[in-house]
Amino acid sequence: ILEIRHLSKTFGTNLVLKDIDFTVNTGDVTCIIGASGSGKSTLLRCLNLLETPTTGEIMYHGNNIAGAKVNAAKYRSKVGMVFQSFNLFNNMTVLQNCVVGQTRVLKKEKEEAKKNALYYLEKVGMAPYINAKPKQLSGGQKQRVAIARALAMEPELLLFDEPTSALDPQMVGEVLEVMRKLASEGLTMIIVTHEMAFARDVSNHVVFMAGGVIVEEGAPDQIFGAPREHQTREFLGRFM
Ligand code: ATP
Ligand code: MG
Repeated sequence: ILEIRHLSKTFGTNLVLKDIDFTVNTGDVTCIIGASGSGKSTLLRCLNLLETPTTGEIMYHGNNIAGAKVNAAKYRSKVGMVFQSFNLFNNMTVLQNCVVGQTRVLKKEKEEAKKNALYYLEKVGMAPYINAKPKQLSGGQKQRVAIARALAMEPELLLFDEPTSALDPQMVGEVLEVMRKLASEGLTMIIVTHEMAFARDVSNHVVFMAGGVIVEEGAPDQIFGAPREHQTREFLGRFM
């Protein structure tokens, strides 16, 4: 689906991403791990067109979407994103949150969009809350609504930026549970996470970043069980 080639990003004189290359195929669950400041969010933001890469290419089905004039809203319906801070529309109900993108971007009929929204809200266990406003929900519930909203666009690829790190510990499980289910259903995902056990379990590909570069990538059993690089071992050692 995506092929990232020689992607670099600078903010002023700060080189935040250096020559990043990697590929995402249909059905891949890629987990990106790495210390704070290593460039994980910036990478996801580039993939979602929230940042423009300084150099390099993001090939989406063979078209370079970096720097080209693409319809960002349309592209984001295909390559969706779930944020640490949920980013729900606070003035809308749960159901409206899951309908608005479908009617505005995908031009779906309201009734069809509602039906579709309900289907995904059901999937994440939030159907009983369709008339609630975000402020009435717990963090875990908000994040499950944000996931349903992203799913309602029927994306080809969903990006998650630390979806559980703003949550109270007792709510982390319910969100990881939903993501586990999506992975088992074959949804293609890129997940930035500090949940190492989850990453090892759910992903088929792990990317370890440090200082804006990919230090090591591979199968989860290799990265977690037999890391090749000193930096990877040192990073993972902090979670033991
Ligand atoms: P964390 O685990 O804390 O979320 P991260 O791996 O997601 O970290 P990024 O948020 O991508 O890291 O940040 C990488 C570097 O880029 C940091 O040094 C940060 O200060 C810098 N940076 C990120 N966004 C901007 C921006 N808009 N302007 C300037 N510098 C930025
Ligand atoms: Mg980040």
